[in-house]
Amino acid sequence: MNGLVRIVRGRILSFRDDPRLTGASAHRLIEDGAVRIENGEIVAAGDARAILTGAPPDAAIDDWSGKLVMPGFIDAHIHYPQTRVIGSYGAQLLDWLQKYTFVEEQKFADVSHCEAVARFFLDELFRQGTTTACVYCTVHPQSVDAFFAESERRGARMIAGKVMMDCNAPIALADTPQRGYDESKALIARWRGRGRLEYAITPRFAVTSSEAQLEAAGALAREHREAYVQTHLSENFAEIAFVKRQFPWAKTYLDVYARYGLLGPRSLFGHCIHLEESEVVALARSNSIAVFCPTSNLFLGSGLFDKKRLDEASVRVALATDVGGGTSYSMLQTAAEGYKVLQMNGQSWPSLQAFYQMTLGNARALGLQHRIGAIEPGREADLVVLDSRATPAMAHRMESHEGDLAEELFVLMTMGDDRAVRQTYVAGRAVKAG
Ligand SMILES: [Zn+2]
Repeated sequence: MNGLVRIVRGRILSFRDDPRLTGASAHRLIEDGAVRIENGEIVAAGDARAILTGAPPDAAIDDWSGKLVMPGFIDAHIHYPQTRVIGSYGAQLLDWLQKYTFVEEQKFADVSHCEAVARFFLDELFRQGTTTACVYCTVHPQSVDAFFAESERRGARMIAGKVMMDCNAPIALADTPQRGYDESKALIARWRGRGRLEYAITPRFAVTSSEAQLEAAGALAREHREAYVQTHLSENFAEIAFVKRQFPWAKTYLDVYARYGLLGPRSLFGHCIHLEESEVVALARSNSIAVFCPTSNLFLGSGLFDKKRLDEASVRVALATDVGGGTSYSMLQTAAEGYKVLQMNGQSWPSLQAFYQMTLGNARALGLQHRIGAIEPGREADLVVLDSRATPAMAHRMESHEGDLAEELFVLMTMGDDRAVRQTYVAGRAVKAG
């Protein structure tokens, strides 16, 4: 790949800002455009004719004329050990964990199982056009090693961490405050900043961590300010009641994390559904990120995310699948379900805002907007090629389309899935299998 110039031609669509705040000037569409890629980076993007004229004769040219070429999707919260519990019937959060997830996660004691699932998981993300994800592994350090090793082999920008969990879980999945700290620290030393990899300190949620373990997680966050923190917050009423019993001194669920220094601009809180007003204020003040996981929230019957309330309070928001509580790896399907959740709350979500969120919006939430999330010179060449006529029903629907981009994007998110993803590029390499 070194030295090779690759040109990806198509309808280049990228965001420069949040359309909710800056309207039509937030995006740029070049109908006959092209991206020039060298050494895994975008070096130019513009009119196809100009880019092709300047290309060396031996450049590889991928012609996707008529198809949308966008930055690769970013998934801000997903569990790679849950690929075999996705679609498990009939339980809400706490029972679902006991009955399905905690059983499945025990298999990750076996390294070859970790490696096989990591391969499947990355294949599947790429098939769906997702090029970066914030990933929960299991309590086993080998689950993190396997995931990072496979991500590194594929040149993907990934964020992941070992789950810390020392109570209210099966013995086989429990670490201790000291072990959780030591193992996380060793993983940070081994993987963080290596190639495109970043580490997330990952106490699963307050229910499964003792005060001593949360203290250890807070120490890790203080000692490694470059690392992320990821956990769950206020997903389900039974969970919230459990947390209040376990930490009787806490006024709110978020208080528990705040006490141990786990809030901040690199802290991702999955769900954030049933928030008290003081929690919204604390999320905003600390620049923490609330992660909207619509398919999971519907599937586990957890509740409806109130995006308008968080937007108005200036809380940073990201979008995620939360597989395997979530039911689809597709960020398109995730956006479609997000739209429906907001509809149930009397809110709306224009398609341009949804596509901004899946790309630059999530990149900003992760503080990675200078590396990914946009098609601009200097960004890493993670791209997705989308076909808004991918299925007979989509093609039929698009016959009444009058050239409006917002409408086309809305059809893509409402009806699209992996079939609409024609190709995915990771650091300039085509990676979509099958
Ligand atoms: Zn989750």
